[in-house]
Amino acid sequence: MKFKSVKGTKDILPEDIFKWHFVEQKIRSIMHTFNYREIRTPVFEETALFSRGIGELTDIVGKEMYTFPDRSGTSLTLKPEMTAAVMRAYLQNNLGEQQPLTKVYYISPMFRQERPQAGRLRQFHQFGAESIGSSNPTSDAEIISLSNQIYKSFEIRNFKTSINSVGCEKCRPQYKEILKNHLMGFAQKLSEESQKRLEQNPLRILDSKNETDRELTKNAPLVKDHLCEECANHFSEVQQILNKLNVPYSIDGRIVRGLDYYTKTAYEIVSSDLGSQDALAGGGRYDLLVEQIGGKITPSVGFAAGIERLLMTLEKGNVFSGNDISPDVFIAAADDLGKIWAIETAMKLRNVGIPSEIDFLNRSLKAQMREADRQKARFVIVAGATEIEKQSFTIKNMQTGVQMDVPSSEILNHFQNETR
Ligand code: AMP
Repeated sequence: MKFKSVKGTKDILPEDIFKWHFVEQKIRSIMHTFNYREIRTPVFEETALFSRGIGELTDIVGKEMYTFPDRSGTSLTLKPEMTAAVMRAYLQNNLGEQQPLTKVYYISPMFRQERPQAGRLRQFHQFGAESIGSSNPTSDAEIISLSNQIYKSFEIRNFKTSINSVGCEKCRPQYKEILKNHLMGFAQKLSEESQKRLEQNPLRILDSKNETDRELTKNAPLVKDHLCEECANHFSEVQQILNKLNVPYSIDGRIVRGLDYYTKTAYEIVSSDLGSQDALAGGGRYDLLVEQIGGKITPSVGFAAGIERLLMTLEKGNVFSGNDISPDVFIAAADDLGKIWAIETAMKLRNVGIPSEIDFLNRSLKAQMREADRQKARFVIVAGATEIEKQSFTIKNMQTGVQMDVPSSEILNHFQNETR
């Protein structure tokens, strides 16, 4: 074969698409019960939106973006995450002027040039939500419980929510200094990656996956213990509301999230059913982002979750069996007259919403019956010159094997009753 899909990308094949429909429908329905409305933004944006919105020092902007000049020389980037794009759309379309609180969700492909492995792709899909315009801890709690509710509704058991506060522009700089001073004591022993972060982004060292880094930073000071009064109160209120809502969570002072724009709440949901890439979702508050991309300060909170990872956990639970798309009726033709009748009748059935199929490959009647079986059709009608002359057709129920003769004038009614 000459062409292959690009490394880190995957085809979603027709035999698997029902799984995607299943999860997307459920996600939409839960988003709607929380009164979030869908937003769709273009697949690419101007590069500067992401470099400014996500932060030059992050892995995403530093080494993972698919960036290219278009034919007029403008630098464009395939979206690596959705929040900056949503906020751009929010500003450009004055959504905040139409309503003081904007609640939106999305389901969209994302693009990051990461090293592909199980659960990590270069084109992957996320769903997520953003609640824009409120600094109230109730909004943080709503976002966390919304993401929880989605996993609960899929009956996923082995997932865990951990929350933290990363402070704000008032308390974080001081904490950064305290952390830096602490890390300086053993800087040379840290991994190369962490040493690079020491100056500019020392918080990220705390969520390093490197075992030595983790051991070395075991007793590092945590930002949650160095919050200003406002951030400390906010964090404690978020916890109180989550307690009231019976959302299970634990506090993990090491969660800092990869992106620069987080303030106050940061949280993650992980699943023990996944391998080393165990993060199902992550999110938090980002009060400073809108200002960074040219709007006025707009407190906001949101989350993003991977669909492939959700599917991986669902596949373990066998929740998909028997949900594939299949025709209700397969019309098998015994001869040339039967073929015409078959396509006409299939069209009539389709017009009233009954999924129907016929043979397109001039197969023998026996082979058509086998094909109907392979496609898991519920009923087969056999049509040929004899049936057309008698105006009576045999309908076979493929599950029970029972056959019955139905006059042609009754066929539509028959299936409308049977498949209701
Ligand atoms: P992030 O925007 O990095 O916080 O990612 C949010 C969620 O998206 C993660 O928890 C994963 O479930 C998923 N995710 C992130 N990166 C990838 C990737 N490269 N491949 C598949 N899923 C991903």
